[in-house]
Amino acid sequence: MRGTLLVLNAGSSSIKFETFAAGPAPVALMGGQVEGIGAVPHLRLRDAAGALLADRGWQDGGAPRDHAEALDAILGALGDLRPAAIGHRVVHGGPDLAAPAAIDDAMMARLEALVPLAPLHQPHNLAGIRACAARFPGVPQLACFDTAFHRTHPWEADTYALPPEFHARGIRRYGFHGLSYEWIARLVAAEDPALAAGRLVVAHLGNGASLCAIRGGRSLDSSMGFTALDGVPMGTRSGQIDPGVLLHLIEAEGMTAAELSRLLYAGAGLKGMSGLSQDVRVLEASADPRAAAALSHFTWRVRREVGALAAAMGGIDALVFTAGIGENSAGIRAAVCEGLGYLGLHLDPARNRDGLPDVSAPGSPARILIRRTDEEAMIALHLTEALAGGPAGA
Ligand code: AMP
Repeated sequence: MRGTLLVLNAGSSSIKFETFAAGPAPVALMGGQVEGIGAVPHLRLRDAAGALLADRGWQDGGAPRDHAEALDAILGALGDLRPAAIGHRVVHGGPDLAAPAAIDDAMMARLEALVPLAPLHQPHNLAGIRACAARFPGVPQLACFDTAFHRTHPWEADTYALPPEFHARGIRRYGFHGLSYEWIARLVAAEDPALAAGRLVVAHLGNGASLCAIRGGRSLDSSMGFTALDGVPMGTRSGQIDPGVLLHLIEAEGMTAAELSRLLYAGAGLKGMSGLSQDVRVLEASADPRAAAALSHFTWRVRREVGALAAAMGGIDALVFTAGIGENSAGIRAAVCEGLGYLGLHLDPARNRDGLPDVSAPGSPARILIRRTDEEAMIALHLTEALAGGPAGA
């Protein structure tokens, strides 16, 4: 297959994009994003090495007002590209979609029906698909879901302790960050098939954060549940919280659903706790005790989750750190691994400081790895497989 693959990740006020030269192993060409759609839009375009190719605002007027116009701005910056196929990151595939899905009218209707499960993200993902369909009629589009990789969870990991009709109504532990976990699972499988056949805990620690137990290359359980709020604390999200706290805030303090939503999604986590920032770099550089306290709580909860997921698998052969914090913060990795020797996880301080791919101490029974995640490359790989009639296309 020849030509260019376009990968889009449409959020509420941004569209991230990346292009790849199609082929059995797609090669990244350019990428970037339009931010501030609907407010003060700004476009940045970089080549595969990260060099800035375009950087523009629209002070002179003509700024993109919606996703369709932002897409036009992206395509203009890309030199009026006509992609051979387009892949989209879509947050929710519901309980049944366990693989990427080719887009047609029926699939769009199915994905629309899932909007209530992810009201903050799914509508924007679908707006990106619609904008592409209008701009490129006939060009194949593929939806790649954050939930799909987790559809191998056993029922015990998929359910809440509620009467069964709630599960039937879709109140389930879907799990998210699936494209990242799938990328890491494939990366480890390509490097070390014996390790990939074993038990991995992958810690995707970025602005959003979750952990996943992967056994034999398949997701067994994950820290995120019905929404991307569950599990460990995040940049601005609370992570797991006693549901009784929410009842108290509603009943005793009169908080509304909208107020709770703002608190849990945007006013909690590292930013809410520290009162300073959601960025680990800022918190690590700060002398404010609230910064240290927030980081300490974060690593406490991540460490607990490593233990819980290792327990779910009956042990652990490797802990893999990934995403912005996991890939870059030696301090967070060291704090998470403190006291995990009982699981056979021993960190080498010097290797960790240098951020080497394998940061385990010599002789550590279980390995500690750092791997770069690449959700866009995972989507490009899904596109390649779908176009070749491969595994994708459920
Ligand atoms: P992501 O969502 O994967 O792009 O991760 C973004 C987050 O990674 C940022 O908010 C920072 O908290 C964190 N991050 C990025 N670079 C570093 C770094 N060098 N040291 C510590 N944290 C970092």
